[in-house]
Amino acid sequence: MTGSSSLADFPVGAIRADILAWYDTEGRTLPFRGTTDPYLVLVSEAILQQTQISRGAPAWEAFTTRFPTVESLAAASPADVLRAWRGLGYNRRALNLQRVARIVVDELGGVFPGDVAGLERLPGVGPYTARAVASIAFGLPVGAVDTNVRRVLGRAIAGDADVLGAAELQAVADALVPTRRPDAWTHALMDLGSTVCRPRAPRCDACPVRRMCRFAGLAAAAASADRAATRAAEDRSVSRAPAPRPVSRPRAVGDGRIPFERSSRWLRGRIVDRLRDAPATAWTELPGPIGTHDARAVATALSALAAEGLVELDPAADPPRARLPVA
Ligand code: SF4
Repeated sequence: MTGSSSLADFPVGAIRADILAWYDTEGRTLPFRGTTDPYLVLVSEAILQQTQISRGAPAWEAFTTRFPTVESLAAASPADVLRAWRGLGYNRRALNLQRVARIVVDELGGVFPGDVAGLERLPGVGPYTARAVASIAFGLPVGAVDTNVRRVLGRAIAGDADVLGAAELQAVADALVPTRRPDAWTHALMDLGSTVCRPRAPRCDACPVRRMCRFAGLAAAAASADRAATRAAEDRSVSRAPAPRPVSRPRAVGDGRIPFERSSRWLRGRIVDRLRDAPATAWTELPGPIGTHDARAVATALSALAAEGLVELDPAADPPRARLPVA
């Protein structure tokens, strides 16, 4: 089944109109919603990929106050960028942002690529981020598919968040984008997935898509079947199992993973945090242990961080000394 055939019997015009009308009255007011500057949009996407909106919105304001333009980010030291990224996790994302800024400034004359293919060639910019920037900053009618959008479209179009494969979902997302207001469409689907079509408890009663949503239709049919079965059981004075309902597949819990504090990711984060707190260009001794990680584990983590460009190592130091990259 292709994306267009998935939509063959679907009222595309109605879903576009209803979602955009809902967004105009119910969409979230966020500090980065008013901008079409691709740099500012990219920063918002980088921050929000792993950060809740309640922390991400003020973090975006702080970061873009510190680095208001792509030129200012390109000119900063990686150490300054990593310090400004404190608390946002995934430090490589901060370095990638700066690599993008330096490519845009040094190689592209300060102008971001204006299409998906060009955006995807930038460091750390994947299919979702490229399409989010393309639609919001450049007004291109392309569908940005993250987990929220996947859930909304999967449920509405196919009756379940996990039915459509990645390629088909992308085709559906692209086919649904209105040529008018693709930026608002991208924002609207993100808001709908975050606030209404929630993973465990979708608020179908408050959803603009409900009258055409296949998931909601199946749920209503299942509830109706439940009621009929209950009535029949009461009539016969016997109990019956309820009819199956369409539900999102539950996530596995208790999967046996080690505690976070014992993971290399935790250790890497603590090392970078220690270096953030150090004076700008000073070396910091890191002999270990840190937490439950012994000196050997600390040295291994330092080597990995240095290979990724997140720290600089003093080559002559033993025990190891490190600092955030200064150039
Ligand atoms: S009607 Fe319910 S399941 Fe369908 S898109 Fe809206 S919130 Fe999600």
